[in-house]
Amino acid sequence: MKERREQIVADLKSLPKIDLHRHLEGSLRLETLLEIARKYRLNVPTKDLEALRPFVQVTNDPPTHEAFLGKFEVLRHFYRSPEMIDRLVYEAVADAAADHVKYLELRFSPQALSRVRGFSMADAADWVIASVSRAEADFDIQVGLIVTLVRHDPLPQAQQVAEIAFARFGKGIVGLDLAGDEVKFPSRPFTPLFKEAREVGLGITVHAGEWASAFGVREAILDLFANRVGHGVRTLENSEILQLVRERQTAFEVCLTSNLQTGVVHEMDHHPLVDMLDVGLLATINTDDPSISNCTLSDEYEIALEQLKIGYPALRQTIMNAASSAFLPPAKRQDLIERFDGLLPTALSLDGRSPASLSQV
Ligand SMILES: [Zn+2]
Repeated sequence: MKERREQIVADLKSLPKIDLHRHLEGSLRLETLLEIARKYRLNVPTKDLEALRPFVQVTNDPPTHEAFLGKFEVLRHFYRSPEMIDRLVYEAVADAAADHVKYLELRFSPQALSRVRGFSMADAADWVIASVSRAEADFDIQVGLIVTLVRHDPLPQAQQVAEIAFARFGKGIVGLDLAGDEVKFPSRPFTPLFKEAREVGLGITVHAGEWASAFGVREAILDLFANRVGHGVRTLENSEILQLVRERQTAFEVCLTSNLQTGVVHEMDHHPLVDMLDVGLLATINTDDPSISNCTLSDEYEIALEQLKIGYPALRQTIMNAASSAFLPPAKRQDLIERFDGLLPTALSLDGRSPASLSQV
């Protein structure tokens, strides 16, 4: 039994991966955070890693959004200098590469990085872009950055952040995202910004159908022109919305562990991913916030296989779905699709074929 598990873990680790939904602010090395907290005497326990952990990672927290989002509030205090931001970004990309993520879309909010120290948001965005390209040169990974707007931030600020993204399209930034409380803050006020994003050429992804009902998904698609929906796990609750996402070929960025930790899903065994795949939705598997959730993309693939029992062909399909919904120009997206189709084995070793050679890719 143990051997079988070890084999699956090894197979999944070596599998080339795509993560389309990962927040920079939730992808920070705990060891580095401890070092920063000590150096700058931040108001968190710094005796050792275990003392700091519950402040920046989900441990025994209740499964609520409030508890989950509380970690981001603490993390904002760690962006102390351009050098620290550079290091945190570089390490986030390095960690993805170490998990054999070959194509990553990393999202970040310039306001989160800049607020505590009063950096300019445009400067913070440029530091992130520079650090990502340094990491891309050092590791076998391709990264596109997505700028995240927050629903509860004042609209003029969202406008400012969106303009930072518009100006950097094709220069590191590939998409625009909307995150935050979708119950209290509807999508409509953001329509002009997302209309402009579409005209500029940015890919659009919106967190929806996570906290609120399936109607959030409709809003994301009709009011914000979303090509992809972050989570969207409540889509199947409404047959008209299901019809809409099929017509539009909307992709879904599903994040399993995150859904459990925020209480969106109460039991992993009953995660809607299984049904989403069954009805043929373009579902993908992603991490959301690997350091807050203490997970890797390999772990998420393992949950999909071992707990949700989706089977390797369906897992492979989720990776191909991710390739076909990447925010890339059409020719480059086609290259990514063909590359992954060639790289991904048709079966895992337990099904009779060894993917050992994949560790070389
Ligand atoms: Zn997210």
